[in-house]
Amino acid sequence: MQELPELDIYRALLTEQFAGAQITGIEISNVKAFQADEEQVQRDVVGKVIWFVERRGLHLLLHMDNGKRLLLHLGQGAYLYKGSEADKPTRTAQVKLYFGDVILFCLGLRADDLQLLTVKEVEEKLGRFGPDVFDKRLTVDRFIARFAKKRGAIKTALMDQNVISGIGAIYSDEICYAAAVRPDAKIPLFERETWERLYEAMHSILNEAISQGGAGVQPFAEGDSLTGGHHDHFKIYDREGKICQRCGGVIEKIDISGRKAFVCSDCQKDQ
Ligand SMILES: [Zn+2]
Repeated sequence: MQELPELDIYRALLTEQFAGAQITGIEISNVKAFQADEEQVQRDVVGKVIWFVERRGLHLLLHMDNGKRLLLHLGQGAYLYKGSEADKPTRTAQVKLYFGDVILFCLGLRADDLQLLTVKEVEEKLGRFGPDVFDKRLTVDRFIARFAKKRGAIKTALMDQNVISGIGAIYSDEICYAAAVRPDAKIPLFERETWERLYEAMHSILNEAISQGGAGVQPFAEGDSLTGGHHDHFKIYDREGKICQRCGGVIEKIDISGRKAFVCSDCQKDQ
């Protein structure tokens, strides 16, 4: 799963490698992954220069010099690799973007994970999502207000991209742990102070993960030593049966509406 920190690392790496670079060709081996017709691709993608790369919530946006955007979503198991014909991943890439001899391999893409869009279409698509975690306008008061209509477990609400965008299954557990709140704690019980701890934890957890290179498993290129540095730093996620570093309790795996979550029942509370 690629969540906000992993996508932010991709944003930085793609910017470093491809800002100012011209797309010289594109090869699509799974037409469902990128459903644009050949004529449109030749006219609107090939020959265009990437100006910059932006991350919004759980999406990456490649801005091209013709004003069009390539919107990229990386679901479960999907990843990017920068290589060449001589240095390519063993798996088949659904889409290959060529920059001369350099190739950006997009692997594990599912239907519509890459889309060619106008600015207006991007806004229509992403506009329905809640604000990005790092949106400067998302103050603590606005953060609290986003959850006003929610009644269920906090983990589920944190992962709801219509509430705020950027958090998935892994970091929702880490954020709840840092805030000392159970992931299955019920939202109506929360006091303002609970929200303040969650708001603070959300920023500190995600910033820390970004600063350590995220938790991505696949390197972005040969010799990439940045990606995945955060992988061994999770305090609660996927640590069932291990000892809680904060209180010495035993970490449990629980089920919240059919989704797994990790919790230390000794130091994470209902509010
Ligand atoms: Zn604990």
